[in-house]
Amino acid sequence: MQPQGAAPQKLALPNIKYLVAVASGKGGVGKSTVSANLALALHMQGHQVGLMDADIYGPSIPTMLGVTNVDPAAGDFPIKRHGIKMMSMGFVLGGDKAAILRGPMVQRYLVAFLTQIEWGQLDYLLLDMPPGTGDAQLALAQTAPVTAALVVTTPQDVSLSVARRGIQMFRQVNVPVLGIVENMSYFIGDDGKRSHLFGQGGGQKLAAEAQVPFLGELPIDARVSECGDAGEPVVKKYPESPVAQAYMALAKSVDTTLKGMQPAKELPGLTL
Ligand code: ADP
Repeated sequence: MQPQGAAPQKLALPNIKYLVAVASGKGGVGKSTVSANLALALHMQGHQVGLMDADIYGPSIPTMLGVTNVDPAAGDFPIKRHGIKMMSMGFVLGGDKAAILRGPMVQRYLVAFLTQIEWGQLDYLLLDMPPGTGDAQLALAQTAPVTAALVVTTPQDVSLSVARRGIQMFRQVNVPVLGIVENMSYFIGDDGKRSHLFGQGGGQKLAAEAQVPFLGELPIDARVSECGDAGEPVVKKYPESPVAQAYMALAKSVDTTLKGMQPAKELPGLTL
């Protein structure tokens, strides 16, 4: 329920064209993997890209992008790697250590990450959201001038139903939903055949029901997690693989879908 009065004012981000929240109703569906690979795919298509790890309690971007030896005291943020700029609580704490912080402190860190870091001019700043639809997610969606939210799901029913809740959350705070991407949709066998291990068509059905675009399906591939653990996303390490190609197609769809939306930098906002 929204209290009476004006909507909370959002931060001004005058250098960021599109601020895209990558969200999921629950953990483990591949949200951070999608954030990292989509960031690289957009970069490979010629865009200036930043990636902000808003998963304060479980940052995985430092490992996925191979940046685990940052000296927090050097304060040299954002970190540039693989052609993209990034910021994560992991850089502040060292490695992938989780923060032990109360909600208001988390919010303060996120605001600082968004506004006190020299992101420079960016076409895209991807926000790897914390999983779930609780207070932290709501507060972030209300403070950051998010252009649109990309909701990641898997084909399983439980994941689809929490994705539905994610869509409702963004609608509640008037953040447009860019679309749904279904991760781990199918497995490609040695014979080239696709097997839908966890069911088929769920993401598409959810998109139709919620009247949001369905932006694509990403296959299961052991190289995805292998590359994530090794710090070089699959899109870069195996650009010819079907999964990398699916990411390139996703990046194109995201770019095309965003074209009609109001850029973050044009939104009136609060300057700190
Ligand atoms: P989340 O951010 O939603 O918690 P992660 O991005 O950390 O999820 O992914 C969870 C695990 O699943 C990781 O080990 C990751 O490497 C793996 N993974 C994600 N997507 C795929 C995929 N398409 N194929 C194989 N493994 C995947």
